[in-house]
Amino acid sequence: MARVYNFSAGPSMLPEAVLKQAAAEMLDYQGSGQSVMEMSHRSKVFDNIIKEAEKDLRDLLNIPDNYKVLFLQGGASQQFAAVPMNLMKNGVADYIITGQWAKKAYEEAKKYGKAVAVASSADETFSYIPDCSDLPIDDDADYVYICHNNTIYGTSFKTLPNTKGKILVADMSSDILSQPVNVSDYGLIYFGVQKNVGPAGVVIAIIREDLIRDDLPESVPTMLKYKTQADAESLYNTPNCWGIYMCGLVFKWLKSLGGLEQMQKINEKKAGILYNFLDNSKMFRGTVRKEDRSLMNVPFVTDSEELNAKFIKEATEAGFVNLKGHRSVGGMRASIYNAMPVEGVEKLVEFMKEFEANNQ
Ligand SMILES: *Cc1c(COP(=O)(O)O)cnc(C)c1O
Repeated sequence: MARVYNFSAGPSMLPEAVLKQAAAEMLDYQGSGQSVMEMSHRSKVFDNIIKEAEKDLRDLLNIPDNYKVLFLQGGASQQFAAVPMNLMKNGVADYIITGQWAKKAYEEAKKYGKAVAVASSADETFSYIPDCSDLPIDDDADYVYICHNNTIYGTSFKTLPNTKGKILVADMSSDILSQPVNVSDYGLIYFGVQKNVGPAGVVIAIIREDLIRDDLPESVPTMLKYKTQADAESLYNTPNCWGIYMCGLVFKWLKSLGGLEQMQKINEKKAGILYNFLDNSKMFRGTVRKEDRSLMNVPFVTDSEELNAKFIKEATEAGFVNLKGHRSVGGMRASIYNAMPVEGVEKLVEFMKEFEANNQ
């Protein structure tokens, strides 16, 4: 069995230890005589799985007691609609446009009220995070929205926007659990799990209790109300049981490593190895402003399309897969989420050095 180094932006690598445990438990989960894929979501055994997953996530992120954790479906993209449907009271929200995902969320919010783009980095292909220290926040804005890590462009917020007292909502699909988060800075955090946590099909929302409303318009679909999901403890209907179980295994893996402070150190080390190489290479260079660089997604280019294509082809043959950049940016992108071992990044950099030497 040869496993590749998978630099995909998502779905992406999972920790090998977690995959092995899932394989070992596939036919008989802890003496239940069944796979987690087969069991009732109303069973005692699954109840333990989801409760334990929630507890471990709460431990990892230090989630305060006045926040609910919801296990949802529909992808991060469904939250683009759920957020304005649930949080727009005055019908106004301010969006900071730092890439395609933020833009999609903004476009979706326009369907439900007045969404205002208060800042954007579209002028330079989203290669930086705009200054958000003094934005024209609307007096009656219900929330300010950010995409915390921009998966496609490789930027992330190092300083949170000054929301002037408004609630902050963040899409953390591509950097949740990569480093500690101060949950109290946010009214709502949500993330699709397929980038940095588990298999596709689960979205987790962490929401401050007082933002869960029971006075929503009749027209809001039952399934999209946070209230429905919160009241039913994420079991209003059948959830993605197996996906939640896998997320739970990843939470345990993170705890066994020493939690998010430790994970952050490892991620800084990995990103440092790659950025340091890019900063010194004569052939490859990073594409975003240094101070806004993501720890998770590292886009880079050479000066030639031909060379980019040759690099991607040869890297793939050598077992470094999914390095092609997003179609809107071109070039290359290495996504180095939690599950990518340090060794994977070291070997990639060795390969890049060789490629550079052979293609002078
Ligand atoms: C991948 C991604 C999404 C879209 O996720 P889906 O689950 O496919 O809807 C949204 N936001 C960010 C930041 C992402 O990286």
